[in-house]
Order: sequence, then C-alpha cells, then structure tokens
Amino acid sequence: MLQLKNISKKYITGDFVQHALDDISLTFRDNEFVAILGPSGSGKTTLLNIIGGLDRYNKGDLIISDVSTKKYKDKDWDSYRNHSIGFVFQSYNLIPHQTILANVELALTISGMSKKKRRKLAIEALDEVGLKEHINKKPNQLSGGQMQRVAIARALINNPDILLADEPTGALDSTTSIQVMELLKEVAKKRLVIMVTHNPELADKYATRIVNLQDGKITGDTDPVLAIETESIHKNLGKTSMNFLTALSLSFNNLRTKKGRTILTAFAGSIGIIGIALILSLSNGTQKYIDKIQESTLSQYPLTIQDQNVDYTSILSSLMDLNSSEDKGKSKNNIKAKPIINDLIAKMTNKNEKNDMKEIKKWLESNPDNIKKYVSSIEYNYNSTLNVYKSDTTDGIVKANPSDIFEIMGLGSDGQSTQALTMGSNYSQDIWVKSTYKDDALKEQFDILSGKLPTKDNEVAIVVNNNQISDYTLYTLGIYDKQELKKAMSDGIAGEEVNIINDKDSWTYDELLNLDYTMVPEAYKYQKQNNIWVNMSEDEAFMKDAISNGYKLKVCGVLKANSETIYDSPWGFVLYTQGLSDKLLDMCNNSEIYNYQKEHKDIDIFTNLPFSVYKDNQNFTMDDLNNYLASASAGEQAQINAFIQSLKSQGKSDDEVLEVLKEQFARQNDITTYDTNMEKIGAANLDKPNSINIYPVDFEAKEKIDEIIKDYNQKQEDSKNLDKQVHYTDIVGTMMKSVTNIINAITYILVAFVAISLIVSSIMIGIITYISVLERTKEIGILRSLGASKKNVSHVFNAETVIIGFLSGIIGIGISLLLTIPINKIIYALTNNENMKAVLPINASLILIVLSIILTLIGGLIPSKKAAKQDPVTALRTE
Ligand code: ADP
Ligand code: MG
Repeated sequence: MLQLKNISKKYITGDFVQHALDDISLTFRDNEFVAILGPSGSGKTTLLNIIGGLDRYNKGDLIISDVSTKKYKDKDWDSYRNHSIGFVFQSYNLIPHQTILANVELALTISGMSKKKRRKLAIEALDEVGLKEHINKKPNQLSGGQMQRVAIARALINNPDILLADEPTGALDSTTSIQVMELLKEVAKKRLVIMVTHNPELADKYATRIVNLQDGKITGDTDPVLAIETESIHKNLGKTSMNFLTALSLSFNNLRTKKGRTILTAFAGSIGIIGIALILSLSNGTQKYIDKIQESTLSQYPLTIQDQNVDYTSILSSLMDLNSSEDKGKSKNNIKAKPIINDLIAKMTNKNEKNDMKEIKKWLESNPDNIKKYVSSIEYNYNSTLNVYKSDTTDGIVKANPSDIFEIMGLGSDGQSTQALTMGSNYSQDIWVKSTYKDDALKEQFDILSGKLPTKDNEVAIVVNNNQISDYTLYTLGIYDKQELKKAMSDGIAGEEVNIINDKDSWTYDELLNLDYTMVPEAYKYQKQNNIWVNMSEDEAFMKDAISNGYKLKVCGVLKANSETIYDSPWGFVLYTQGLSDKLLDMCNNSEIYNYQKEHKDIDIFTNLPFSVYKDNQNFTMDDLNNYLASASAGEQAQINAFIQSLKSQGKSDDEVLEVLKEQFARQNDITTYDTNMEKIGAANLDKPNSINIYPVDFEAKEKIDEIIKDYNQKQEDSKNLDKQVHYTDIVGTMMKSVTNIINAITYILVAFVAISLIVSSIMIGIITYISVLERTKEIGILRSLGASKKNVSHVFNAETVIIGFLSGIIGIGISLLLTIPINKIIYALTNNENMKAVLPINASLILIVLSIILTLIGGLIPSKKAAKQDPVTALRTE
C-alpha cells in the first residue's frame, strides 16, 4: 500500500520557482497497472522519482506500508530502493562496461548476495525476458528493445513490490513497444506497476488505471482508491550491503575498459615510488656494505683499554677541526692567532689518562651488567716481545722478529728515524701479527693456498697478498740473506754502485711450509753469573744454545688474504695465534730468572742492589757496595775499584765516596723497580695487563659495551673515585659512525626530494579520479536507483584509486628491481667491489606499495566524496 499525501515538490532556480508537483494526493493498490499520462514537463518523472525514493518531497508525506517516511534516513531510503522498488528508464540506463548478466546482478550485488546465488537468479530473470543467450554481451551489442528487457529483468531481480517505469517505450518502435508492454502487463499481475507514458493508446490498452497529470496537479484518475481496500502486507526490509570487494570488481571492470589510460596513470604514479625504491636500494646496499666492513673491522679493532690511554679520538677530532673558523671575519683590521698546537698539547696532556688496569681487569671479570653477553672475547695483553729466530743457526743467528732490517740498514741506531719511517705509512716493524679472529671468522678472512689455518700455539701461517711477498718480509724472515742488504747499504753510503742480487724470486708453497723458526722468550736470554743476571743476547754460543732449546714453531699454511680481510699488510706477514702469545707469557712467568726475582723481591737482580738504593733518601752502605762488587763481573769490579781509587786519591773520605757511588747508581737506575725488571724479562703480573682488547659480538653489542663502561664511569665519578674510571679508545667506531650518519642524512634528503614527486603523482591521480567521476555520473545515478548508498558509491571510486595505487606500487617496484640490475653493473664497473650493490629490502617494497595505495586513496578521496554526494536524480538526468 503506497500513499501520497499532499506532496509538493518545487525547484528553485535563481528567482524562478517551478512547482513540479503541487499538492498531490494519490493512493496505489498493492497490485495494479497504473499509467500516468501528461504532457512533457507536467511532473511525471518527478512524481516517479519521489515514489521511488530517488528524490525527496518538500511538503506532504509519502506513506509506505502504513509508515510515514518523514523520519526516513538515507539508509532507509537506500534499503527501500534496493528491496521494494524496481526502476525502468526510457534510456535503459545500463552500465556500458558491464555484461548484461552483471548489469542484472547489480541490484543483488548491492544487497550483498553471494555470487553463486545472484548469478542463478540473474540468469533466471534474463530467461524470463527471453534473453538467455545474450547474457555475456555488453549493452551496446543489443537492440533497444532487448536493452529495455534487460532493464526490466534488472528491475525485477529483487522481486520488488513496486515497478516504476519512466516512459519505457519512449525510444522504441511500435512493435517492440508492444513486446515491452506485454512484459509489463505480465509483471503487473503480481505487483504494483506505475508507468509514465505520453502514449494514451498504450495506456488505454494495457493499464488498469490511468492518472492524468498537468502542471504538477492531478487532473484525472480512472480508478481512485476511495477507502482503504486491502490490508497491506508489511514487508521486512533488509539492509543494503555492498562490500568493498564488490566495489573492487565493479571498478576493476570499469578500468579494464580503459586499459591504456589506467596503465599510463599507474606508470606516472609509479615514478615517485621508483625514485624512493632506488634510493632505498642504494642506501640499503651501502649500509649493508658498511655493516659488513664494520663487522670485520670491529673484530680487528676492538675497544682498547691501555694502561696509559691517549684519547686519540679527541685528538683526531681536534685535527679535523682545523678548517673550522668560527670567528671568521670578526676582526677586519688585525690578525689573530689561532691556537692549534696549544689546543693539541692541551688535549694530549689533559686527556692523557692513566688506567688502573688491575681494577679494570677485576671489574671486567666480575661480569658487570652481563657484559660478557656482548663480548665475543676479551684479550688481556702483556708486553712481552715475541723473539723469533731461524731454527737453523749453522750460518749464524738470523732474527726473524722483531724485524731488524732498519737496524741493519743503519737506521735502527736512531730510533727517531725508524719511527718516522713507520709512522708515515701503515707499515709496522712487526711482521709477526697476532690473529685477532676466532677460528670461524678467521676462515672467512683468508683463502688457504696450501696447508691449513693456524690453530695451535706452535702453528703459524705465512700470509701473502696477491701471491706476493715484499722483500722487506723476505729479508726479515731470513729468506733473503740479510748480509747482502748490509753490504749493499754500506756500498751505497761509500758511494759505490749498489747491486743487490736476489737470484731467487719465486717459491713453491712447500718451500715456504718448510721454513723453520724458533721462539726464544726474553727471559731465556739471561744467565746468572755470580749473583747477578746478565743479558746474553750478544753471546753467539749462548744464543745458539737458547735457540736450540727454544719453542719450535711450525709453518702450517700459506694463506692469501681475500677481499674480506682487513689484515692487508702490503708486506706479507706471519700470522700467529693468541695461544702462542699465551705460551710466551707462560714461559717467561715460569722461567728461572722470573722465579729468582720473585724470591728476591727487594733486590735488583741485575745489580744485586736493593731497589731502595735507587731512591735518593735511602742509605747506601759499605755492605751494599761490597755486595755489588762480589756479584759483578771481573771487568766491572776492576772498573769500579779503579773509580774508587781515583776518588780516594782526590782526598775523598769513605762516606763521600759512598755518596758519589750512590748517586751514580741512582742516576743509572732511577726508574728501576721490581715491576720494570719483570717487564724487562718479558714476564708479567697477570692481574695487571698492559692492554685489554674487548671484542664486541656486533655493532649493537659494541654500543651496549660503551654504555656499560659509561655507566661505570659515572658511578666512579659520583663516588669520587676518578682514578678508577675506564678510559679507552675507539677510533674506528667513531669514524664508522660518522660515515653511517652521513649516508643516512643523504638518504633522507634524497627521499624528501622524491617524496615531492609522490605528492605530485597523488594529485594527478586525484584529478584522474575526478574525471572518472564525471564520466561515470550516469552510473552513480543507476547505482543509487538500485539502492546503493552514498557509502557504496564512494567505495566504488575508492576501489578504483586503490587499484590504481596498487598498480603504481607494483609497477614502481618492478621497474626498480629491473633498474638495479644495470645500476649494480655500473657500481661494479666503478668500484670493482662485488659486495657493494643496491638491494631493495623486501619489507621496504611492501611498505612502498602500501604507501602508494594510501597516497592515491587520499588523492581520490575528495572526488569520491563528491561522487557519493551527487544527487541521483540529477545524475540520471545527465546524458
Ligand atoms: P516530465 O517528466 O513530466 O516531463 P519532469 O518531472 O521531468 O517532467 O519535470 C517537471 C518540471 O520540473 C519541469 O518543468 C522541469 O523543468 C522541472 N524540473 C525538473 N527537474 C528539475 C531540476 N533539477 N531543477 C529545476 N527544475 C526541474
Ligand atoms: Mg519525464
């Protein structure tokens, strides 16, 4: 039962008011075929749109199933249209890019029915109107009559109570008109059909009731409803619910009809994504490379705590600061001094801090804050020179470490020049290098040319670079004859022609593996004569003996530094294990001389004088002198006795002689203590290392360790124990960090630039969506007439932008991935480093696709809102 009560509708355009409907009251039966006749402009379409809930009345009331619609909300109207009303238009209003089947399904699609069910119903409906064979055609492949029948099938698919037809035959010839009218007559048997027409003959022939309309007023009704004739059945209205997936498929079909434009739009939108993806790939690749270097570098350069710490980091930064001039141009007429050396001195002396190694070792071993979790190893190093000799001494003693090459060349006597030589380069005099890697990591650093990696304490390996060893190393190791070098040098100085003859310039791996060396701990170079210990290193016979009793080393492998390694000493070198270092310390700390000194804690074993004698305020007695003389060698005894005689002949008293001698001893041994003696013989106090190397597990662990030490230092400062603070150097960390920071900064700047192109592309997509909205205005009207809500409509357009955004993202990532191939080729050509390459991280690409969707969605939001707001009546009137 449908009832119009005093309904008025007026359109105001400027000053002009058009009364399209003027106080109309009409009641319809639930089952009749009403024809509304009237001239053009009389308000027929307006009446139909108001009955169909497509348009709103200004005054009066529309009563649907005994319920006033005055309080209807948008969603009630949507539901009413979807479930109770079927529309048929003069111009068919089929959606051109959808198949006939899809067009018919649409009303069910909007009500949220499952695909299978609605397909079945749609096919049935099309069968009923005689179009079963045409279901997969597009509307423009049908004739007008066929299209109108599709429209009727669509209107009926929901089994509505009311079918509204606005001049359904207006565009059809008379034969097809009759077919359509027959169909409508059939439909009207089960429901209310209201048909607008200006063809009185058709109305007369088919309709059961004719209502005449003129200037918005009813001028005639052949069968008015006088009282309430029938009880109406209250129909339970369901909700309309078109899910986003349906919206997606609608938009997808629409986009398919304009593939070219869609792909171009998506491509344009992808340019920003490509930019960002490439920048991310590059910076990610670089970062990965740096991380890799950092990892290997960190294990080579640990955090080092030295007994005497110079804060190189701050000195370095002060040197780097040389160019900054904060008061540039401040004083124009005079010239000012810039303190550089002064600053440097201040830094070097102020920050030259002493570490209490004993305390620090104790602290580290107590595992503060679980520090051991972050540490791959902690090495305690003690100053004990690694003395290595060629095992074969038949042709004389050949020292293989520390290198004596500069000494042989006449440079060694002057320590300054040696230092100058070594400081200016990476070259160290030590060509025996302790492995700072653990076994597994070591494997990554070297390619084994022959033999194996050194693992035991008596195993060493010769490491070459590009299968070459420098002659410096060859001379040092005694592979080349050191005597020839000596001769060449003296020839050169004498002005003679220098010719060094190295007849051999290549070696088989086996020849290198057969080299034979012996380690002689410093402590083993001393011999006790009388009561004092004498350094015998200049005594050939003693040293030959020491070498034959020394610790035998075995060359176990020939290695090649690979690109991973940072041990790339250009000299070529000998790699030994921490084990050998420990062994050396162990030998010194168990030597005879060590035990002797330990038993005579107060006595300088090299003079047999108490250490106290060396201090000015101590007495030096005749007993001390006699003690010394008793132990001294015969030569020294004679020398000292002669000295005493000469003093006495000058008239000095015994006391005065003692005083002079005491001063002599004190001057010669002014820094000699128990500890320095132990150091001299290569022994060490295990509680008190000379340096501590802390190897972090990884970079994060390193920062954690930094933090733990900082905390500890803060605690010491709070409790005024400044001398217990830990001072350490971390040059590599500082430099690496700044490199990382620079790369991050560059990345952010580039991304910011490219982000602008992303914004531009989203605006473009917004514009394109807007154009699409304009193009699909009619479709919006159709959707609304079928009961789609405003939200459904905006979904359709949002779905379109989501599809475009997704396409942009995919295209962008795809092109970026393709571009990284030539880019990596170029990088490789430029750097010749296979580790340095652009890699797009997977999660970043996913994020970029999502970003692209979000941005285009935002770009399309305003147009889709606009689409949703469109008045369905206006939309339908649009051609
Ligand atoms: P019919 O369908 O009988 O030809 P309509 O219902 O379409 O007539 O129109 C009734 C009157 O209302 C006409 O004079 C028309 O110009 C006017 N009208 C319809 N829609 C609008 C509108 N959106 N704005 C202004 N006037 C309108
Ligand atoms: Mg009309």
